[in-house]
Amino acid sequence: MSAAADAIASGALNGRVWFYSNYHCNLQCSYCLTESGPRVLRRELPGEVILDRAAEAEALGFTAFGVTGGEPFIRDDMPALVAELGRRRPTVVLSNATLLNERRLRELEPVADLPVHVQISLDHPDPVANDEMRGPENFRKVMEAIPKLVERGIGVRIATTLEDPDAVDPEQRERLCELHRSMGIPDEDHVVRPIVNRGRAATNDLGLLAGFEQLEPELTVTVDGAFYSPFGPTVRGGRLDSDLLVSRATAPLQRPVDALLRIADQLPDGHDASIGIR
Ligand code: SF4
Repeated sequence: MSAAADAIASGALNGRVWFYSNYHCNLQCSYCLTESGPRVLRRELPGEVILDRAAEAEALGFTAFGVTGGEPFIRDDMPALVAELGRRRPTVVLSNATLLNERRLRELEPVADLPVHVQISLDHPDPVANDEMRGPENFRKVMEAIPKLVERGIGVRIATTLEDPDAVDPEQRERLCELHRSMGIPDEDHVVRPIVNRGRAATNDLGLLAGFEQLEPELTVTVDGAFYSPFGPTVRGGRLDSDLLVSRATAPLQRPVDALLRIADQLPDGHDASIGIR
C-alpha cells in the first residue's frame, strides 16, 4: 500500500485530489477566494496534465477527484475532461452554472452515466440577497440551469456559502432547502460552508481565517504547484498566495504527496481541521 493510501485509510488525508482548472470566470463574486473575473490571469492547468496527474493519483490510491477554479465550464474542453475523470473516480466539479448553455449541456450528457456531480453555488432563497454577493441575474440563471441538468440525469449538488452558517436564520435556511428539494436535489446533496478569509473575501473583510491547522489536508494541483488544500491557491492583490504551497513540482505526484504528508504529520494531534470545500 502506498503512503497516500495508508494516510487515506487512516483518515489522515482526504482521498480526493483537487485540480484548479483555471482562474478566469464570467462572474466576480465579493467573497471569491481567487479574485476571479473575466480579465484575470487564466493560470490554466492543461487537460493532459490533469489526466496524467489523475492517472498517478489513481495508482497511489486516491479515491475521488474535484475540479474547481475560476469557472471550469468557461473552458471548451471541460465536459470531456470531467467525463474522463468520472470514468476513473467519483468526481465533483464546482460551477456557478451560468455558462451552461444548450451546447455545454449536450456536451455534458455523457456524465449522466458516471459518478459525477456538478456542484452549483446558490447562497440565498431570495434573488436580491443572492445576487448581492454573486452579481446581477445570478439567481435566475442558476434556477434555469439546475432543472436542465436534473432532467438529463446529471448529478447536481448545491453549495451555499455564508459569512456565518451557524447564525443563519432558520426560516431562510428552510426556504433554501425547500427550493433545492423542489428541484429534485435531496438534503444530502446540499452543503453549507463558511466564507474563508482569503482572496477577495479578505479584501472585503469577510469570512473565517484558515491556515494549516483549520484545513483538512486535500492535495490540490494547480499550474503553479501543489497545495495543502483547495483553500490554498488563493489570490490577493493579483498575487498567488504561497503560504499553503507544499511543492512547486507536481510531477511525479508522489513528490507533493510526500511533502503534504510531512506537513500533516507535524501538526499537533487533535487540531481542528474542520473547514472543507464541501
Ligand atoms: S466565487 Fe466562483 S463564480 Fe464567483 S467569481 Fe469566484 S470563481 Fe467565479
